[in-house]
Amino acid sequence: MKNALTIDLEDWYHPELVKRYVQGDPAPQVVEATDQILRLLDRHRVRATFFVLGDIARKHPDLIRTIHARGHEIASHGTSHTPLWDLDYEGLDQELKSFRAVMADVLGPAVNISGFRAPTFSMDNRTRYALRCLVDNGYRYDTSIFPAKNHIYGVKDAPCTLYRPDLNDLRLKDARSDILEFPLTVFEWGRVRIPVSGGFYLRVFPYFILRALLRKINRTRPFVIYFHPWEAYPETPRVKGIGLKNALITYYGIKGAFEKIERLLQDFEFEPMIDVIQRTEQAGYAIRA
Ligand SMILES: [Zn+2]
Repeated sequence: MKNALTIDLEDWYHPELVKRYVQGDPAPQVVEATDQILRLLDRHRVRATFFVLGDIARKHPDLIRTIHARGHEIASHGTSHTPLWDLDYEGLDQELKSFRAVMADVLGPAVNISGFRAPTFSMDNRTRYALRCLVDNGYRYDTSIFPAKNHIYGVKDAPCTLYRPDLNDLRLKDARSDILEFPLTVFEWGRVRIPVSGGFYLRVFPYFILRALLRKINRTRPFVIYFHPWEAYPETPRVKGIGLKNALITYYGIKGAFEKIERLLQDFEFEPMIDVIQRTEQAGYAIRA
């Protein structure tokens, strides 16, 4: 079973819990942090999907060209890392249009962008205008719905597998919908949903637990892994004064993250998300049913 490997391409000062506290003009580190990931992927001959921030592409066009030239899928993480709850239809429309303009400059006008991931998994029923906006901007899939609620984001009752969401209530399926949703992966244990997809959860769970849960999921469906280059880079600056809880959520386990990702690449099969989606559609899983 091939799974989706996804990387949200942003810098250490973008995450929601730290960006308010970053002072002055922060020194970029995304090129170094991403370089070690690209070398890791090359070593394991794995291609992934990079959800690129338009602002990163503008600042580091050569990094985006390198990623693209190595065969990875380029997808959108918006332009400025503004969560959907701070935007509206027009605001997101502008973000997507400026993203496309930057990508046309960096990779040429023919570049194909199919996928979107919202900053901070901010896609929920309050921000469902965003799905309509993605359809209107030609996106084929979204992967922003976190089907478990935590104190920052999440949609409690959203489906856990690839589906076509109803644009008026994204917890519901609608076979006629023009966009696909690949929700972040949770392990269902009775009525409890345990996030096993990445980020904080990837850093906090011991590897043998992650592997056991992901193997169980793989018996019936593909999963998605997500992480950020700064999360797997030991030199990521630790922003001071953000409070103990935010510091734990943002920085816990960074030292061991790179090794965990490498073990995932050894133990599971991966490919870009668009490939997993096409494979799933071809297999005729109940996407349109
Ligand atoms: Zn992000």
